Amino acid sequence: MAALMASPVRAGGHADAILLSCMDFRLIDDLAIMMNQMQYRNSYDHVILAGGALGAVHPQFEPWHDVFWEHVGLAVKLHSVREIVVIDHRDCGAAKLALGEDVVADPQAELAAHTAVLAQFSEVALQRFPELHVKGFLMNLDGSVERLRPEAMADHASASDAEAAQNAEHGAEGGGDHAAEEVTH
Ligand SMILES: [Zn+2]
Repeated sequence: MAALMASPVRAGGHADAILLSCMDFRLIDDLAIMMNQMQYRNSYDHVILAGGALGAVHPQFEPWHDVFWEHVGLAVKLHSVREIVVIDHRDCGAAKLALGEDVVADPQAELAAHTAVLAQFSEVALQRFPELHVKGFLMNLDGSVERLRPEAMADHASASDAEAAQNAEHGAEGGGDHAAEEVTH
């Protein structure tokens, strides 16, 4: 018992990822279902900010940014997470506030906007936690998700290289799980 008490901070064990999602009440159960389908069951920490990635990087929500990144730091320290999974969602009220109603009302513009936000998020993550892989999704209101691919849209060479390097590193570690890119239920 004394030995256990000596290092309470290390008592958490290992988790694969930290999940960032919006707070929207309509999708709480869908988030857990999706994470289970992607083989993260009970192996992820979960931080909720309204707007998901927007909450972590958009100027509208600036007071929350440090709160989020400090949670990532704790997840690394306590649970040795290696990934940040971001699940934004469609028809997001926080996105309407930060990006405008018209953007969210147009499905293509909405997808492009969340993709751009994830690109921004990934850049910040790369600066703060270069060892972490970032994976982003946009959840539909039926609980299905589509993968956000900022690397496919941007001609941002350095970001693409970094993403490729991260992917290569991730693959080299033999992580064949969590590979689901389009999952529906
Ligand atoms: Zn939302």
